[in-house]
Amino acid sequence: MKKALICGISGQDGAYLAQLLLSKGYSVCGTSRDAQISSFQNLMRLGIREQVKLESMALTDFRSVLQILTKIDPDEVYNLAGQSSVGLSFEQPVETLESIATGTLNLLEAIRFLGKPIKLYNAGSSECFGDTGGDPADETTPFRPRSPYGVAKATAFWQVANYREAYGLFACSGILFNHESPLRPERFVTQKIVSAACRIAGGSQEKLLLGNMSIQRDWGWAPEYVEAMYLMLQQDEPDDYAIATGASHRLEDFVATTFAELNLDWREHLIVDESLFRPTDIQLGKGNPTKAGQKLGWQACYQMDDVIRMMILAKAQQGLNVLLEAV
Ligand code: NAP
Repeated sequence: MKKALICGISGQDGAYLAQLLLSKGYSVCGTSRDAQISSFQNLMRLGIREQVKLESMALTDFRSVLQILTKIDPDEVYNLAGQSSVGLSFEQPVETLESIATGTLNLLEAIRFLGKPIKLYNAGSSECFGDTGGDPADETTPFRPRSPYGVAKATAFWQVANYREAYGLFACSGILFNHESPLRPERFVTQKIVSAACRIAGGSQEKLLLGNMSIQRDWGWAPEYVEAMYLMLQQDEPDDYAIATGASHRLEDFVATTFAELNLDWREHLIVDESLFRPTDIQLGKGNPTKAGQKLGWQACYQMDDVIRMMILAKAQQGLNVLLEAV
């Protein structure tokens, strides 16, 4: 039985990846900064909380990382932990850089120190690319990050590439474009939109406050993006892959589609709030996942409209569950 260690198992991707690896017969251990106080709600929602072993680990503390790797002795490590919000990274640049760059470096160093054939997946990000002027970005596109988060992810990406070349580590970065699901917290714009639209459809008088409506993003479905992570570690050679749907849409389209699904006119419920604009933003994010298709046999099955429908459906299901519990 293969053993996987998922750093950041409490998050959206961590929970879906744990579900995937369990279905493949893996023994799964996951870490949180403090496993004693984390509620692991996402694991509970997927009904797998009791099937995974949970440990506390601080990625920025080399001793903690080494201790967990020694204790768990994994075949595969998935690094999904770290400050993950672009917006918050402007408020917490040091925390963002340390949790992502120092955290990834500690994992690489610990694997190198142990000298075991541990495979590492690192959660890279399309935020590394910055503005590509509408050209779809792939693994050969230069990085010009436009946020502290993007800078930190670019640093971690090159750390992984360097350890692969210098020490022969089996280490890969997935350069993932935005991927969404019902497990996304409301801090992220897609869930903020879906949640507000559902409440408004249910009678709430609130307004939805959003920032720059003209940005475009390549939005995919998180459960299928974690399959790409798994596939990267099953190849003969370690490599980096851009993971995207290949189609991008304006934020305004995301809002309009969400409200239309609920028979609402978004213009009646939205306020553009300039205080929510970021100091620097990416105007158009679009990925080219050709290499992932050719080498991993991976391609996105779901596009933005599907993602919106599935997120709304999950909200409806959640509401129904609350009603049923009350009966
Ligand atoms: P997420 O839901 O925010 O989960 C990230 C996990 O990292 C959290 O559950 C948290 O676990 C831990 N964490 C949060 N802040 C941290 C900090 N300051 N220091 C150390 N650990 C911290 O993120 P996700 O959406 O699953 O994404 C997984 C990874 O992929 C992240 O690295 C993210 O940056 C990257 N990524 C995501 C997307 C996307 O669209 N979702 C796209 C590209 C890249 P505990 O609180 O339990 O410690």
